[in-house]
Amino acid sequence: MNIFKCLDCAQKFYSSAEARTLKNSSCQLCGGKIIAVGPHIKLGAILLQLGAIDQDTLDTALNRQEHEKLRIGEILIRMKAVEPSIIDYALELQRAGRE
Ligand SMILES: [Zn+2]
Repeated sequence: MNIFKCLDCAQKFYSSAEARTLKNSSCQLCGGKIIAVGPHIKLGAILLQLGAIDQDTLDTALNRQEHEKLRIGEILIRMKAVEPSIIDYALELQRAGRE
C-alpha cells in the first residue's frame, strides 16, 4: 500500500496505485496537490514532488553523496539548494504512515 498526502488539506490517502500514476492527480476533498509520501519514498523524490529542487540538483547531490558519506538532505543544505526547514518538512512527510 502506498501513502499519498494532500499538500493543501493534509488529508492522507492509501492506494495500491504506483506513485507515478497518482503524481498528477488532485485531492478529492480540496483539489490540492497530492504527493507520494512514506518511508519507502526517497527523500530526494519527496523534494522533487514538492518542487523544492529540480532533477539536475538532485543528480548533483547524488553524485556528491557517492564521495561524501552524508545524508542527501545534509548535502542539499550544504549546496544551499534548500533551506533546512524544507528538509525537515520532507523528513516529516517521509515519516508519514509510521504513526
Ligand atoms: Zn486536499
